[in-house]
Amino acid sequence: MAKFIVVTGGVISGLGKGISSASIGKLLSSKLRVIPIKCDGYLNTDPGTMNPIEHGEVFVLDDGGEVDMDFGHYERFLEVNAKSSWNLTMGKIFQEILDNEREGNYLGKTVQYIPHVTDLIKQKFYQISQDENADIILIEIGGTVGDMENELYLEAVRQLGQEVGEHNIIFIHLTYIPKPRTTKEQKSKPTQQSVKLLNERGIWPSVIIGRASRSLTPATKNKIAMFCNVPSEAVISGVNVGSVYEIPLLYNEEGLPGILHKRLNIYSPPHLVEWRELVEKIKKPSHSVTIAICGKYTALQDSYASIIEALAQSGAHLDTRIHIKWLETTRIEDGETTIEKELEGVNGVIVPGGFGTRGIEGKIQVIKYVRENKIPFLGICYGMQLAVVEYARNVCGMANANTVEVECDNNSVEVPVVCILPSQREVTRKGGTMRLGGQDVALKPDTQAYELYGKARMIRQRFRHRYEINPEFVTILEEQGLVFSGYHPEEKIVQLMELPGHPFFIGTQFHPELISRLEKPEPLFYNLVKYSLMKA
Ligand code: GLN
Repeated sequence: MAKFIVVTGGVISGLGKGISSASIGKLLSSKLRVIPIKCDGYLNTDPGTMNPIEHGEVFVLDDGGEVDMDFGHYERFLEVNAKSSWNLTMGKIFQEILDNEREGNYLGKTVQYIPHVTDLIKQKFYQISQDENADIILIEIGGTVGDMENELYLEAVRQLGQEVGEHNIIFIHLTYIPKPRTTKEQKSKPTQQSVKLLNERGIWPSVIIGRASRSLTPATKNKIAMFCNVPSEAVISGVNVGSVYEIPLLYNEEGLPGILHKRLNIYSPPHLVEWRELVEKIKKPSHSVTIAICGKYTALQDSYASIIEALAQSGAHLDTRIHIKWLETTRIEDGETTIEKELEGVNGVIVPGGFGTRGIEGKIQVIKYVRENKIPFLGICYGMQLAVVEYARNVCGMANANTVEVECDNNSVEVPVVCILPSQREVTRKGGTMRLGGQDVALKPDTQAYELYGKARMIRQRFRHRYEINPEFVTILEEQGLVFSGYHPEEKIVQLMELPGHPFFIGTQFHPELISRLEKPEPLFYNLVKYSLMKA
C-alpha cells in the first residue's frame, strides 16, 4: 500500500503550497513513485471556465484535462505525466454523489456529507493509489485551514489517517511567520493558532514549514515546536527565494528527507546534483535578456506561470537571466502608451494564448512591429492566430482579415483567416469542450522548426483551442511567404508557423510551455532566448 503525505496551509493563502508540495515530492522521487493529488474546494468541475486573472493559469494535461496550475509544478518537479482524475474538485465530487443518488446507489439512505461525501473522497485516494501503483500519494488540500469549502477534505484525510495508521501517513502544515516592522522579531502566534484550527479537526501535523523572509531563528523554531507539539527539527524554514527550483534544495538542507524516511519507514535519498547545478546557473548567470510578454492577463503573473517557468529553465541552460517585461496590450489600443516606448530594450517577444476580443488589436500591432524589426517572436496559440491575421492584413493586402472569434451579432468577419475548427461547430456547452490535450505534430522537413526539434519527424504537444488557421487561406498565405511547418498527422490542422527571412518568428497552435522542464527546456523557448541573446 502507498504511504500518504498530506499538505495543508494556514494563516494566509498564496504561500506557494503547490510548489512546496512539489518540492517535498521531488525529495522522495528518486526511488519512489510519487503521485500528486490536488483537492480544490470550489464547485466548478474544473478551472477550465475560470478567468485566469481569478484563478491563475489553467494547466492542460496530456489526457486533455484542464486542471489547477499546481499540476504545472508537479509535472515540472516530479517527472510524472499527471492525469485529470488526480485533480479533485468539490464540483466533481458532488456531481458524482448526485449521479449516484439518481442511479439508486443509496436507496433507502439519507445522503449526507459524512459519510457519503467523505467516503467518496477517500475512495478516490485509494483508487488512484492502486491504479497508479504509487509508493507515495501526495495530497495537497487547497485553501487555508478554516475555509468552509475545504472542511470535507480535512475530515476525509483525518479519517484516512485513522484507517492507514500513523506510520503510513504524515501531515505537513505550511504557515506564515510574519516579522512586523515594529517588533523586528519573527512571530509564531499565527502559526500556533492555525495549528490549533487543525487540531480542532483532529489533525496533528508532524512537520511545520514556516514561510518567512529569512530563516527561522532557533528561538522561533523552539517556540513553534513547544506550542505545536512537534520536535524542533520538524520545524522547517521556508524562506523566500529567487527561484522556485531552490526550494527542494532548501528543504533538503533543513533535513526534511530524514524526517519523512523515519516516519514513513521509507528510503529514497534525493538526487539533486544536476538540479543544483542548474539552480546555480539561475542564481548567478553571466548574461541577461529582456523578453516581453504581451497579453491581457498581465495583472496576475500566475496567469502565465508555465511561460515564466519555461523561460527560466531555458535561461538556466543558456547561463542567462530573463527579465520579463509585461505589456498589457489594451493599453496600446487605448493610446495610453506606444509600442516603441514599451519595447525599448526588449530583446524578444511572446504573444501568449488568450480568448475573446479585448486586447487583440494591440497584440496585432506588436506582432507587426516585431516582424518588421526582426525581433525574435514566439506566438503561442492565439499569438500564432493573430500573427497570421497580421500577415494577411499587412503583407497579403487583406485589410479585413481577422479571426471569427471576434464575431458577434452585428459584426461578421469578411476575411476569416482564422476560423472555427470543424469539430467545434456544433459545440454549445462550455466546460471541457475545446480541442484539448496531447496530440502528435508532424514536422515538415527542411523547415526551421524541424531543425530546432533536432530533425524529429513527429513531436507531441498539448493543445487548448476552438479556432484554427483557415485551411482555405493556407495556399495564399504560403505563396506570400509564410511557412506552415507543422501539421496534425492526418487532419489538415495547422500546428506550427514560421517566417523565412526573419531570424526567429515562430507561431504554435499548441502550448510548448506546458511540457518544458528544468532539465529539458522546450526547444522553442530555448531558441527564443538564444536568438534574443543575439539581439541583446
Ligand atoms: N482563443 C483561441 C482559440 O480558442 C486561442 C486559444 C488559446 O490561446 N489557448 O482557438
